[in-house]
Amino acid sequence: MWRIVGQDRAVAQLQAALERQAVAHAYLLVGPPQVGKMTLALNFAQALNCEGTVPPCQECPACGRIASSQHPDVLVVGLLTENGNRPRKEIGIDQIREVQHLASLPPFQGRSKVFIIEAAERLSQEAANCLLKTLEEPPPRVVFALLTSQEQLLPPTILSRCHRIELAPVPEGTIQALLAQRGTAPELARLVARLSRGCPGWAVSATEVGDILEERNRSLDAWLRLGGHDIGERFAYAAHLAAQFDRDRSAVEAALKLGQGWWQDLLLVKGGAAEHITNLDQAATLAQEAAVYTWPQIRKALYSLEAARRQLELNANPRLVLEVLMLNLPRKGGEVAGATP
Ligand SMILES: [Zn+2]
Repeated sequence: MWRIVGQDRAVAQLQAALERQAVAHAYLLVGPPQVGKMTLALNFAQALNCEGTVPPCQECPACGRIASSQHPDVLVVGLLTENGNRPRKEIGIDQIREVQHLASLPPFQGRSKVFIIEAAERLSQEAANCLLKTLEEPPPRVVFALLTSQEQLLPPTILSRCHRIELAPVPEGTIQALLAQRGTAPELARLVARLSRGCPGWAVSATEVGDILEERNRSLDAWLRLGGHDIGERFAYAAHLAAQFDRDRSAVEAALKLGQGWWQDLLLVKGGAAEHITNLDQAATLAQEAAVYTWPQIRKALYSLEAARRQLELNANPRLVLEVLMLNLPRKGGEVAGATP
């Protein structure tokens, strides 16, 4: 049984490869953060090594060991460090050399060795070159699964060696039903399903891990208050985000996405399409705010947030990018942020 929601097409592709015994040496699983890439990769590793009659059975020792990260032939490589220190900034050459070495040995217990490379877009250039050599001459009984939400950042040479499988955002109703099944109250399930933008992993964490929704509320509040802030306060916020970026870039990426979602909602409310807003619990505030800003101001905010996100992706100086963003975000009443003392 494949334990993943809303990815029937991706599952069917992998299932077909298994049935035809035509499994590729390397797969690229592409999709937004927390849409289910890791779950799918682990399910696939189970299917490749399952000892039951209908793989992945979820009942045999191999399936169990893979589910609890204890199978010697299934290895996850990524930015997280084992001792819980701050995440690495990139996947280094040392990590890929280790993979290369392990890939050259036959499987210990299972039929296939599976290497799952999480956040593959963060492979250092050296690491990517090293991985490429292995992908060009893949050892027998080894399968690579590269996971990414930003495939445009991967070298074309790597992409060309991988069989691409796309994970699309999961329909809101499916996620809402999943949350209801897990015991989430209906109103909260509706809000979280909408906020998750098709990513069940985020939705489940948001209902189970206490501070995810609180963090979202804090961050939303910060974006909301920026509208009335002068340039000094705005630059202080830019400095705060830049420092956070240094520790945990994904948190800042999430904050910028949240800001985009907020301004997108303002556009919807202003255009009379309030039923489509993402921040369902903020309808009243959105209605007030939408009256304050003009169309060009809202569009400029959206454009500036998107530009900032792209520049950070390309490793521009975070402090500079965020300060430019703060200068460009509209101020209530229509003045330029820097114009008020
Ligand atoms: Zn099994």
